[in-house]
Amino acid sequence: MNILQMEIKSESVDEQVFYIPTVQQWEMLIDVNPIINGKYLFSLSTKYSKGSVEVIKPFLRFIKKYKNFSIGFYEILPYRPWYFCIILRNQNLWQRVNIGERICERCGWKGAIADPSDKCLYIGSPEEKEAINRAWSFPTVGCPMCNNKLIGHIIWVDKESFNK
Ligand SMILES: [Zn+2]
Repeated sequence: MNILQMEIKSESVDEQVFYIPTVQQWEMLIDVNPIINGKYLFSLSTKYSKGSVEVIKPFLRFIKKYKNFSIGFYEILPYRPWYFCIILRNQNLWQRVNIGERICERCGWKGAIADPSDKCLYIGSPEEKEAINRAWSFPTVGCPMCNNKLIGHIIWVDKESFNK
């Protein structure tokens, strides 16, 4: 199968081609694990290895909940596996991020966060260094309850999660 047959949209993210399926397309891709451009979309090696379908499922749950995010897949080198990345719509551009959870050390707020500062996110981009510098230049956001600084370079927090 190739990308065109699947009608997956592509966009340039940090000057690198990203394929950005819709949620429905991701569900189909997870079911089928197609061979795209000569390689399986999801790694067949160990179940929880990088690029396996088990890694994508929680990403998919995340983007279903938070509509400003998508998942892209991209190629670093023809003989390397597909890479996946969560992307956040930020100032009209797609920004690569790691997602995670933080607990505020001051007030105990706990919730989802996005951090763009991990340089591994930008591997394969022709403007890797610029992209990392851009990521560090974005303003950070604090705890949505008490504005305390959260660990990392946090550019997004789930303001809705006021649990505990
Ligand atoms: Zn707090």
